[in-house]
Amino acid sequence: MELRNVRRSFGGTEVLRGISLDVPDGSFTSLLGPSGCGKSTTLRIMAGLDRPDSGQVLMNGEEVSDRSATARNIAMVFQSYALYPHLTVAQNMALPLTMRELSRWQRLPLVGGLHGGTRQTRRAIQARVAAMAAMLDLTDLLGRKPGQLSGGQQQRVAVGRALIREPSVFLLDEPLSNLDAKLRTQMRAELSALHTRTGRSFVYVTHDQTEAISMSDQVALMLEGRIAQIGPPRTLYETPQSRAVAAFIGDHP
Ligand code: ATP
Ligand code: MG
Repeated sequence: MELRNVRRSFGGTEVLRGISLDVPDGSFTSLLGPSGCGKSTTLRIMAGLDRPDSGQVLMNGEEVSDRSATARNIAMVFQSYALYPHLTVAQNMALPLTMRELSRWQRLPLVGGLHGGTRQTRRAIQARVAAMAAMLDLTDLLGRKPGQLSGGQQQRVAVGRALIREPSVFLLDEPLSNLDAKLRTQMRAELSALHTRTGRSFVYVTHDQTEAISMSDQVALMLEGRIAQIGPPRTLYETPQSRAVAAFIGDHP
């Protein structure tokens, strides 16, 4: 997908000042930058949760600004994970599927999750959840509620829920920042493996350059609402295009 000269202001302050970004199909792209530079705002616009004041959001060359996240086939994992505490792991993961069935047939009760619908759709949903759980090592936890899980396990549930509809673009907003260092290293490897296995486009937001550099095909360094430099991770280190880029990279060994 692609952003072209996207601008967004809040209360008279321009926080995105002309963002142009090409995310090649199947790539792992990181958005790296300090707090407040506009990373989450950029991601929300990609997801269709917010709209640019001007500029274009394109998928396969088509303008998608009017389309919802569902219509764009984009899924997002939030920093907070945003799991539903009263639903089990299985129900949390099934939710996007049951919502899709709901909108298609108006049959499945939303929060009823796995209980609603025809036997056939219910079976299909359960099979899908089981496959996703197996992939993310969550099979034994399907009956638990989020409050009974560790941070890393909750993170995997959030990833499972986001991937269950096989989105073409998968957006992750600082998904590992709540985890301890050891778990973060492990989850990084798991996400990289997931990227390889699914072949989908991943856009990964982080302020941690080790993360961005270890995982990405390309890194977009954002500073103050602009993309200061974009390229393969090594390029940012070896040939920073400005002092600001060199300073950010240098400040964060
Ligand atoms: P962090 O690393 O801390 O998450 P970020 O790069 O994700 O930062 P954004 O959340 O995109 O930053 O915010 C960019 C700027 O826009 C910030 O100054 C923020 O206060 C402001 N901002 C974001 N959303 C809104 C909003 N809905 N209303 C007003 N200001 C906002
Ligand atoms: Mg943010």
